[in-house]
Amino acid sequence: MKQTSEICLKPNRDVPVRAGHPWIFSNAIERAPDINAGSIVKVVSSSGVCLGIGFYNPNTSIRVRIISRYPDESINADFFVKRFKDLDAAKRKFLPPDTDGFRLVNSDADWLPGLIVDCYRDVFVFQVHSAGMENFKSEIVDALKKSFDCKAIIERSDVGVRKIEGLPAGETKVHFGDVESPVEFLENGVKFFADVLHGHKTGFYLDQRDARSATMSLSRGKRVLNLFGYTGGFSIYAALGGAKEVTTVDVSNHALELAVKNFQFNGLKPEEYKFIEADVFDFLSDVKTLKGKYDLIVCDPPAFTKSFKNVPQALKTYTTLNRSCLELLEPGGIMITSSCSGVISEEEFSNSVRIAAGQSKRDVVILDRVGQPFDHTQRLAFPEGRYLKTMILEVVKKI
Ligand code: SAH
Repeated sequence: MKQTSEICLKPNRDVPVRAGHPWIFSNAIERAPDINAGSIVKVVSSSGVCLGIGFYNPNTSIRVRIISRYPDESINADFFVKRFKDLDAAKRKFLPPDTDGFRLVNSDADWLPGLIVDCYRDVFVFQVHSAGMENFKSEIVDALKKSFDCKAIIERSDVGVRKIEGLPAGETKVHFGDVESPVEFLENGVKFFADVLHGHKTGFYLDQRDARSATMSLSRGKRVLNLFGYTGGFSIYAALGGAKEVTTVDVSNHALELAVKNFQFNGLKPEEYKFIEADVFDFLSDVKTLKGKYDLIVCDPPAFTKSFKNVPQALKTYTTLNRSCLELLEPGGIMITSSCSGVISEEEFSNSVRIAAGQSKRDVVILDRVGQPFDHTQRLAFPEGRYLKTMILEVVKKI
């Protein structure tokens, strides 16, 4: 049998791995073999202790992404079956009632580097982001079939991040079953359609579940503006929470059409709500008309940067955007504002909104901070895995 290659760490570089950090950076490596991207390697400490196995990639600064801390574990369909079943049990334990759409596998934070699996009731949608995981697609599909009563298994590897690992543009492919997109699922008892074949990510932003719940409980009697509303997630929670008015703004007509269907699906009459197809920055430029028209604003834009290089510019954009929103709010007004840029820290995002509050001459208190829900696993030893930051703010005074 072929020996698995080994990479040896520099002294003391085993500590983060032992504590549960799943990455080995190039500067922690003493010796590495000459092997292809995606190969499996054993990770060995400077004193010769094997710490686990991972996917190697000589082309990225993250040289190894750990897949198992058991060095002799074989990576095959049975391995994935065990992992999927364990994750399913671990996550279902904490899911809120009436929720059957959730993230089953959250990549490195769930020790499956470069693999995302989202579950929409009995439809499973996966994405492959790493060269190592790319070699195991058929095992992944087999394991999903063996582990669950799947109606369909879909791959949505049409994502740009694959480039970092040297992978070609990925595809959308139905690997198993028949699927008529969109598919139905429940989140906190709210009914949704997810466009698993053509929608963003795997079809729905499952990561805003907790912020959406908070929105529902704050919306009674409010005039709600949902910016970057996509398929209406926040809007529907607001409407069901008793909002007086709900306006959803998004640049994508396709997303808004599904938002209308999602309203209907929940017994809400779309004609009683507003859907505006517009660029949010253009929409907000009409300050005079919008001022004082809303009591609660949700602002959940796409990531303004995915690279560290562009963080300063992205922070400026967060400030501009949040300033425009805060300027519309009177005292008592609520703002639910998010950043999903993984390269921007909680503190940097907070600062950008703090500057926005100052510029808009608003004294603002933080009612709460929420982030990605627990199924989008975060490890204490792996802060890089936290990407979603949401602040719930109240304007208390104009200054
Ligand atoms: N809040 C949503 C997810 C937002 S995703 C939810 O909970 O489901 C970001 C959305 O912003 C996408 O629907 C995209 O079409 C939209 N978008 C991106 N840039 C935009 C812009 N400049 N103006 C309006 N919408 C934009």
